[in-house]
Amino acid sequence: QKAEWAKLVNERTVSADDHHVELAANIGTPEDVKGVLENGGEAVGLYRTEFLYMGRDTLPTEDEQFDAYKTVLERMEGKPVVVRTLDIGGDKELPYLDLPKEMNPFLGFRAIRLCLEMQDMFRTQIRALLRASSYGNLKVMFPMIATVDEFRQAKAILLEEKAKLQEQGVTVSENIEVGMMVEIPSSAVMADQFAKEVDFFSIGTNDLIQYTMAADRMNERVSYLYQPYNPAILRLVHMVILAAHKEGKWVGMCGEMAGDEIAIPILLGLGLDEFSMSASSILKARSQIRHLSKGEIEQHVEKILAMSTTTEVVDYVKATFHIG
Ligand code: PEP
Ligand code: MG
Repeated sequence: QKAEWAKLVNERTVSADDHHVELAANIGTPEDVKGVLENGGEAVGLYRTEFLYMGRDTLPTEDEQFDAYKTVLERMEGKPVVVRTLDIGGDKELPYLDLPKEMNPFLGFRAIRLCLEMQDMFRTQIRALLRASSYGNLKVMFPMIATVDEFRQAKAILLEEKAKLQEQGVTVSENIEVGMMVEIPSSAVMADQFAKEVDFFSIGTNDLIQYTMAADRMNERVSYLYQPYNPAILRLVHMVILAAHKEGKWVGMCGEMAGDEIAIPILLGLGLDEFSMSASSILKARSQIRHLSKGEIEQHVEKILAMSTTTEVVDYVKATFHIG
């Protein structure tokens, strides 16, 4: 099987009925790009920039960040690179920020919330990204967006920094797409409104599942509630894709679910445009998608969305698509 998959390294990802989707990879450092290319990744769908900030005593400088972003963009040779702005907080701490302990860190001061308040830190990252943008195909996305106002504020900051840089004579790409993660249920429910303002969505199912089911993604005791195939999750994903496509925007997914063999047929049928996963899952996913017909799956998806339990969904998908 592995040898079969290896032959697909330079192939595009097309379904049996010739529908193209993009298979992208999640990365954490510039060194990860090698694995993306070796596994035939068509893009970086999620560059988690937290690692630049972690395991040190001070914030990374603008130049350090610029170097990292530029390296990733150059190594990807013009293929899309979706960089997520700092998503710290929750389970990921930065001791040197000296933030007060919270009762519920996952519901607290994290990600875009923290960035919109600690604007010096945020603007430094944005400037590093904008300066790097001319070295490749950069797309920027903001994590943990709960309200349209947050997206507007974050985007306004990006546009302000862009204008300032251009005034100083720095070249900034004119084609940077600006999007957001959909990982809080409010943003999935309001996707029709967000879709008018973003260039793209990337669904973060790791968090979307925990917030929708109110089940901590790290807590074993409630892990039985952490259900990617629960129709509640599938309906939210469906809503987001419909809303985006209505406005002509594309939708990716960068949570673990995007590389899951039970989820892939459903997501293809729902019309997901980009699947971002660990690099090592890409070839297997490409092989699976080449055997699936999107047109045929669409009828199954209608049935799946009307199901009432996770078990029903899983049993149906396994039987229909011969999995397991
Ligand atoms: C997610 O929440 O699905 C996601 C991709 O982000 P992270 O796992 O970094 O929270
Ligand atoms: Mg997340």
